[in-house]
Amino acid sequence: MTSEYAKFLDPVDVESLPIIYFVLPCYNEVEGLEHTAEVLHQKISQLVAASKISEQSRILFVDDGSEDGTWGLIEKLHNMDGSLFGGVKLAHNRGHQNALYAGLMEAYKAGCDAAISMDADLQDDVNAADEMISQFSEQHCEIVYGVRSSREKDTWFKRNTAELFYSIFAWMGAETVPNHADYRLMGSASLEALSEYNEVNLFLRGIVPTLGFKTGKVYYERGVREAGESKYPLRKMIAFAIEGITSFSTKPLKLVTSIGVLSILVGLTMLIYVIASVFTNHAVVGWGSMMCSLWLIGGFLMLSLGIVGEYVGKIYLESKHRPRYCIETKL
Ligand code: UDP
Ligand code: MG
Repeated sequence: MTSEYAKFLDPVDVESLPIIYFVLPCYNEVEGLEHTAEVLHQKISQLVAASKISEQSRILFVDDGSEDGTWGLIEKLHNMDGSLFGGVKLAHNRGHQNALYAGLMEAYKAGCDAAISMDADLQDDVNAADEMISQFSEQHCEIVYGVRSSREKDTWFKRNTAELFYSIFAWMGAETVPNHADYRLMGSASLEALSEYNEVNLFLRGIVPTLGFKTGKVYYERGVREAGESKYPLRKMIAFAIEGITSFSTKPLKLVTSIGVLSILVGLTMLIYVIASVFTNHAVVGWGSMMCSLWLIGGFLMLSLGIVGEYVGKIYLESKHRPRYCIETKL
């Protein structure tokens, strides 16, 4: 059916429907990928039939240097239906955040109107995409965050460590959306803004809220992994949390300065006490001079380290070459 004819039948202007790219980073996901492809295929067909998205919408898999047959499977899917399944293969395993960024940038370059990023294991409920797309098309939200309505399906350990992380992160002065992982919709304007971020240490959950724009939230229940096992063992989770904090905050460096000042104050208080004890004949020989110099020298060392840290922090922030601003609209 030509699109002219389709327009005649349907009052919805098909050309104005948004082209949506689903972007999925995949690392050794051969076990579940075919099922994921099938589920997303159905979702896209359903959204196209409901005139919510353009029929040029597609699914983009990013193979993050998998060692199993993931890329072979992506090629097979592409050969089956090249207009629906696309693939990008990274030459090496670069981690979830880099793979996701690569996929988002490819989707942006391919001319999508919005990209929805999600995990390849279908833990994120695909049905939440409907609401994301309607907030994007109808309420003009440039970024729509998928937020977990509860963490009941997580282990006690994961739930509590995640909460601890979010509160430390907020205290460090960085912005995040609590209980939001990387399931989100981003329009082409915010993708363009994201492309200006040249930093190597990527922590997308921290960067995206700093972009600004009109945002929305969709609540969903996160399921358990459908196939294969988690690619985020505890070791990687801790590394990810440290990466997040050190990519967004120089507060740990400032903390050194504060501890230095505190130590000097303790030293001075002790000095007053020692002088007072000399006059009241309470003095213990040698103890006073030892304690005062210990706290004072320690304090001065920490303070100087903190001052050096302040400069290192400035160099660190400059070296990220983050854009100074992002333009939302131009007239
Ligand atoms: N992933 C990736 N590169 C990696 C590790 C993970 O692309 O080095 C992908 C993985 O295939 C999945 C997503 O990132 O699509 C999230 O990983 P996973 O589901 O294992 O994390 P969890 O949900 O257990 O936190
Ligand atoms: Mg998962």
